[in-house]
This record gives sequence, C-alpha cells and structure tokens, in this order.
Amino acid sequence: MNASVAPSHLAPADAAALPVSDRPSRAVIDLDALRHNYRLARQRHGGRAFATVKADAYGHGAVPCAQALAGEADGFAVAFLAEAQPLRAAGLTQPILILEGCFSAAELVAAHALGCWVVVHHEAQLRAVEAHPELTGLNVWLKVDSGMHRAGFAPAEVREAHRRLAACPHVAKVTLMTHFARADEPDSPATAEQIACFEAATASLPGERSLANSAGVLAWPAARGDWARPGILLYGADPLPVPDPALRAVMTLESEVFAVRELQPGDALGYGARFVADAPCRVGLVAIGYADGYPRVVPTGTPVLVGEHASRIVGRVSMDMLTVDLTALPGEGIGSRVELWGPQVPINTVAAAAGTISYELLCHVRRVPRVYVGGAEG
Ligand SMILES: *Cc1c(COP(=O)(O)O)cnc(C)c1O
Repeated sequence: MNASVAPSHLAPADAAALPVSDRPSRAVIDLDALRHNYRLARQRHGGRAFATVKADAYGHGAVPCAQALAGEADGFAVAFLAEAQPLRAAGLTQPILILEGCFSAAELVAAHALGCWVVVHHEAQLRAVEAHPELTGLNVWLKVDSGMHRAGFAPAEVREAHRRLAACPHVAKVTLMTHFARADEPDSPATAEQIACFEAATASLPGERSLANSAGVLAWPAARGDWARPGILLYGADPLPVPDPALRAVMTLESEVFAVRELQPGDALGYGARFVADAPCRVGLVAIGYADGYPRVVPTGTPVLVGEHASRIVGRVSMDMLTVDLTALPGEGIGSRVELWGPQVPINTVAAAAGTISYELLCHVRRVPRVYVGGAEG
C-alpha cells in the first residue's frame, strides 16, 4: 500500500506551512475497500447507485472518495448545494443529486448551473421550480413521504405535485423517490408498509424510482427500483444488526502507545478516577482523544487493538489521549500501533459502547490527518 500523506483538508500550500508533527494519530482511508463496497452495493441492488458522499463522505473526504469512485459510480448524492460545489470544482462530471433539495430559488439557479439534480419535497421547492422556466433540462426527484413523516409530499398530494412538475416544459425528467425510517430493523413491518405506501401513491405515474438507502439495499429486495442511494455501507459499516462479512472497513482510526505506566493496587487512573487498579497493572498512553473524534463516553472495557492483540480502554477518554490495558501484553509498549476502529475493531462495537451509531462517529473524526491508501483505480 502506498500512502499519500498530505492532510486532505488542507491545500498543499497550507500543508507546507504546517509545523512539523510527529503525533502518530491518523485516519487511514482505504480507497480499494470503498470501491469494493460500492460494487457490492450496486450488485446487490441490481440497478444504478448514487454514492452518497454527504457530510464530507461521512468523514472520509468527499473529493478523494468521489475521485476514487469516478470510474464506476453512476453519480453522487450530497445533502445540500454547498456540498456539490467542491465535487464540480474537482472536475467530477457525474450526476450529483441534492438530497435535501434547495433552500431558495437562488440555490436552485446555482444547482442548475452546476448540472445538479434536485429533490423537491415540499411546496416551496415545487414553486421555485415552477417559477424558473429558464432552467431548462432540470432533473427533479419528487420525494414521497411513505411513512417517515419528516420530508416529502403526503401520498394524497403526490399525483398533483407530479402533474405540476410534468407541466413544466423546462423539467426534463421526474424521478419518484422515498426514504426509509426503519430499514435497519429487519423484523419491523415498517419498511414493507413504506414500500406498499410508495407503490400505491405512485401507481401508474411515469418515471424512474428510487427507494433504498444502505439498509434498503442490504435487507429489502422489494425496495430495489432503478436507483439506490447507499451511504454508510460504502464506508464498510453495516447498518443492520448482523453485519455482512462482505463489507470492508474503509477508515482505520489509529495511533500509537507513546508512554507506559505501572499502576499498583488502589491507584486511580485519569479524570474522575473512573478506573482503580485492583492488582498491579500496566497501562499504555495513546495519543488520541475525544478532540479527534474518539467518543469520550465509552466505558472501561471498550475494545481496541494493540499491536496484533485485542485489548481494552481503561479509565476515561480525555481530550488528547486515552489509556489502554497492557497488563497481559508484555511485548507491547512505546511505539505499539493501536487501532481504535477499522478492519479489526468494528466501528459498530465502539458505537454501541458509546450509545450511538457508526455514522456519528465517522462524521465526527477531526484534527487527525487523513492518509489515503489504495489510491490508483483498481
Ligand atoms: C443520507 C441519505 C441516504 C444514505 O443513507 P445510508 O443509511 O447512509 O445509506 C440515502 N437517502 C437519503 C435521502 C439520505 O438522506
């Protein structure tokens, strides 16, 4: 694996001006794994698939991830217009779908100028489309609220909204879409009900269909349609309770042990004295903390990898460092590599220990450089 080391969020000129840092913490992004997961999503779904790269590709870097997928992705999905601009500025020419649609008519004009496809999910967005006949060739995705009750036209309003869009000569294409609230719960009837609701609301309307997010792709064959919109699965984190072994982790959050402490029985470790040694033990200090995005709330016992050995967090995670148990690992010490999550420490395990989901952990990674591997198209 050949690594390109410039922190991705900095322009090269800025990176050159950075003070030297030998802090060993980084997020390694495996672009081969990203492409593998995209192919898997496309193959499972059977149709075309937008690679969802909103929120800076769930913390992985939208531009490098989109560039890595440029040879095969059918398009990219972002949350809002400002997330589309860097992709176009980087020269990506694939369709870009704006999942939340536009916040104003000015945004709609700018989205059209960038050649983006826009979601229309409420009346003001529909009016903005109607009011701008000069935006020729618009590709509109009409969002149906099939049961999430967050965004989208109610089933009873869909036909009229569709009729109004179809009556706009500047609207080239109307695609029908919906979004699932509980597709990550295979035992819930909610997704089957949403699919049935969507089908009833759109029956006999022309146009392509898009239903499935990651969980829809993985667990709901009935949600296939023409376009999938996978996000989290591209990054190798399975949203379902039983992870699919075919997915590959894309991000490895890693650091090193940079100091070692011996504790005697009764010694308390770290803020709040949350861990008190009941026997002699050996603790490694690791150069990463909650300011880097590792969650502060995880308890003692949360898994980490030290060298090639399973170990655990001990004591409270602090802002810039955390502590791991080396008592049973006499061969590990200063310089040992520590994986906080990645191929060998599933992010879902860490997320569960933190009472959240992988999405939030990935989006919150910051302050560490991103290092891309597997860069050349494979
Ligand atoms: C974020 C998002 C997706 C991707 O969801 P995942 O669960 O990450 O696959 C798909 N569709 C819409 C409308 C979204 O907002």
